[in-house]
Amino acid sequence: MEQKIYFMPLGGGQRVGASCYYLRLGESNLILDAGIGIENGVIFEPDTYSLITSPFLQSMGQIDHIYISHAHSDHIGYLFRLMKEATRASVYMTEITAILSEYQLYDKNYLKRGGKDEEKRLAAQYMLDKIAKVSYMKTIDFGKYKAMFLPAGHIPGAMMILFEFEKRKILYTGDFSLDRTALTGGCIVPDQFGIDTVIMCGLHAKHPSYIKRADGLFKTVKYILKTVWQKRISVKCHVQQLSKGVEFLKTLNEYNTRNTPVYLDKSVMDIVEKMEQLSIPVLNVSNRPIGSDIPMEPHIYVTAGSPYRANGFYYDVNVDFSLHGDFSDMKEFIKRINPEKVILVHCAKEYSPFDDTIEQALMLDGDCRTQVIFAEEKEAYVI
Ligand SMILES: [Zn+2]
Ligand SMILES: [Zn+2]
Repeated sequence: MEQKIYFMPLGGGQRVGASCYYLRLGESNLILDAGIGIENGVIFEPDTYSLITSPFLQSMGQIDHIYISHAHSDHIGYLFRLMKEATRASVYMTEITAILSEYQLYDKNYLKRGGKDEEKRLAAQYMLDKIAKVSYMKTIDFGKYKAMFLPAGHIPGAMMILFEFEKRKILYTGDFSLDRTALTGGCIVPDQFGIDTVIMCGLHAKHPSYIKRADGLFKTVKYILKTVWQKRISVKCHVQQLSKGVEFLKTLNEYNTRNTPVYLDKSVMDIVEKMEQLSIPVLNVSNRPIGSDIPMEPHIYVTAGSPYRANGFYYDVNVDFSLHGDFSDMKEFIKRINPEKVILVHCAKEYSPFDDTIEQALMLDGDCRTQVIFAEEKEAYVI
């Protein structure tokens, strides 16, 4: 008899944050991602209770494997808690994800929770050392099913996971981007595997009018350099996520042809040094760590943490840009794979109730036969 495949979001369904998905392949119990979310300053977590009160499991101790797609806190922030609940589960992620995760603790979300950063980082490092590191394009054969890992673009270390179970193929995308970024080559579109079902993190699945400005980061960098070079004013660049900070620095270094000094706060410097150790070159001659005094010469200061010193010395720029695919990228991705089913999770709210979703856009497309499901949290779906 054919064994069934079930899917149930425990968080990160039709909202962004606390991504955590239960996938049952026959007798194997898997969890995809373990994130936290923040809404109006309040942290929310995946609902694992809904899983142990479901017909699938009696205890989290029955979870076999946990996969983490990438190192953003909405995908990894709950991992250590989950590891304490799912004591028997082995955990898989890329080496770069493990290294970046250690530094997620410095992200604003965590800093708000107060103090003791170094202690937390060391505790995180200890946990992450125990995790199995996987490589792109490699397959693990667990006997009952196979898992293969593919580059997802988005941020360094991000992976998609392709599961093979009784001749069925299921792809979990995690967050992904088709375009190359300063630090990644963009995702692989796995259109040669005959994938039946795609579980997709579709941030912009309800935003037909959202078009990613591929040159958004470049324009910000140009604006910052022009300000320092022409006005001779120092600029403080606030980055929202450390991974974006690294991406930004890489692009800034590329265009900073006059070698204007670029100072980095400790969290940015630490993560960049880790990347360097992994042969991802970011630093150049203009980069240096910030000291206790503000340098007098016109310079650029990149910070991910709390304000350095609010004394009006700096011209402040908020650096933000998208590392996600937009609506048309999602459509292209689905059309190229042409699966029977797409299960959408990690979807942000529609901007307007009159906007089409990716479901309507695909329906209007004559040669697309894909069924679209917007999966709700705590509801189980048969795949
Ligand atoms: Zn992400
Ligand atoms: Zn995400």
